[in-house]
Amino acid sequence: FELARLQKNFLLSVTHEFKSPLAAIKLYLETMQRHDLDAPKQQTFIKNALYDTDRLNQLVENALMANLIERQSNIFTFEDFDLSAKINDLAIKFSSVPGFPKIDSTITPGIIMHGDGNAITILVTNLIENASKYTASGESIRLTLNNNGQHAFIEVADHGIGIPDDEKEKVFQKFYRAGNEETRSTKGTGLGLYLSRYIARKHQGDIKILDNQPKGAIFQVRLNKAVQ
Ligand code: ADP
Repeated sequence: FELARLQKNFLLSVTHEFKSPLAAIKLYLETMQRHDLDAPKQQTFIKNALYDTDRLNQLVENALMANLIERQSNIFTFEDFDLSAKINDLAIKFSSVPGFPKIDSTITPGIIMHGDGNAITILVTNLIENASKYTASGESIRLTLNNNGQHAFIEVADHGIGIPDDEKEKVFQKFYRAGNEETRSTKGTGLGLYLSRYIARKHQGDIKILDNQPKGAIFQVRLNKAVQ
């Protein structure tokens, strides 16, 4: 019954999640059509529209991946890739989004791992998007990557509302979202952390949540660099 309720919430939130970036993209295009904007303004509108396009894409990718997991398909393709470059690219990508919080990144270069690069992108994107929802303007998100012999460690930390101890496990449940769907102000579908943990575990790792100081959440991801 709990799952049925969560699933109903999911449909509500997916509808909302689709409509808001689409409406935004339409508005950016209409404004550019009607007004003769100067070049910098035009670039800002284009960047915003591209970011909204990415968000729609992520939404579809998350939903697709959740569906494939449900059908127990073998969804991962493992190969060698440069994890440092991937995390760095993500940091750069988010930095170009107008209005997105600043990302303070400390990335150990040259970490090569054997895994599914697309899945790792989905994982880290979900964590950064989440952190951004709870980051007030002027504050930044901390992103770190390091490694030891066998494992890579990714950390995404914010200074938002944090996650109470009794929710630190629940947030990884499929469709789980803290608070009430009708009154909630932050966006989301409740798939992000479910998928993120699934992906980490498929790389013989895991995700845990710690409290940031003085407030906020730290998501710590551990991945085996050589999972076969
Ligand atoms: P979504 O973000 O789409 O709601 P997630 O699975 O990514 O779904 O997150 C589940 C819930 O965990 C969120 O609804 C939110 O309540 C909580 N959460 C996730 N990330 C954070 C964060 N950085 N700070 C505070 N709460 C968070």
